[in-house]
Amino acid sequence: MKLLTIFLFVLAGLFPIAASAAAPAKAPLEVVVLGSGGPRPFGRASASYIVKVDGTPRILLDAGPGAFLRIGELNLDVSSVDIVLLTHLHIDHAGDLAAFFNARGLTSDGPITYRIFGPDGAGLFPKTSRFVDLLVGDGGAFAYQKTFGAPETFLVKDLAINLDSPQTTILDNKGLVIEEVSTHHGDCPSVAYRITYKGVSVVFSGDMDASALPNLARLAKNADLLIFNCAVLDPPASPKQLYELHTPPRKIGEAAHQSGVKSLLLSHTAPDVESQETAVRNSIRANYSGPVAFATDRLRVKVGGS
Ligand SMILES: [Zn+2]
Repeated sequence: MKLLTIFLFVLAGLFPIAASAAAPAKAPLEVVVLGSGGPRPFGRASASYIVKVDGTPRILLDAGPGAFLRIGELNLDVSSVDIVLLTHLHIDHAGDLAAFFNARGLTSDGPITYRIFGPDGAGLFPKTSRFVDLLVGDGGAFAYQKTFGAPETFLVKDLAINLDSPQTTILDNKGLVIEEVSTHHGDCPSVAYRITYKGVSVVFSGDMDASALPNLARLAKNADLLIFNCAVLDPPASPKQLYELHTPPRKIGEAAHQSGVKSLLLSHTAPDVESQETAVRNSIRANYSGPVAFATDRLRVKVGGS
């Protein structure tokens, strides 16, 4: 037995790859918070996340201002990030999209084909395909980007925005599944996303008011992690008009409980919400007993795995 142990040690030394096979497996999914703040400038990047799949950055979820800076700070390799999920087209969620294309384009000499998803248009808000065109399409503000660094193709799908639209699967490729459902964020078309890989799921609410909670609760059913944008306090502590845009903590707790999510991460939080952390936690705790955390820029959350 002793000899066998020594033999294995020698083998491990000779074959470091075999030795590393005993290291903890990569989490199926990992969320890297690029931006946890917004929409006002108070020293944090605004809403943006990179999702790693099997340890490789693959998905950009929202592109709030500051995402570009955080990608560099974290030395993230974005050379495989070809999927972009936009919850809505407010500046605090999409203002750095062109800067991301720039960063990604400069990591690769080979052609890039982006698959971009975001809401259909309404009122003052263009549909996502038009938004991308206005940025990098022919005649767009940054039309040069399509051939800057790497030849780029942008495949954009506009997602239904009525609350009674069915939940859909927008990607199902090699075990990576992405689903979406329409939400409601005042007059701004919005959607929420669920990403599933190897049996674990993370759900992003985006910005949404409470009228969309039934859709969100269905999308998030039994998810491992729900990232909910928590931009207001319970009424009447925040300005009244904000409740037509955002969901207060007590209702976030109700949704987390109804959907049976295993953990909750609050993001897109401003100082007025964070300064009331105890009240926010108590409010969520009234209905939801799972773990609750507040996001910070650069936070990494592994979902599943050891
Ligand atoms: Zn926002």
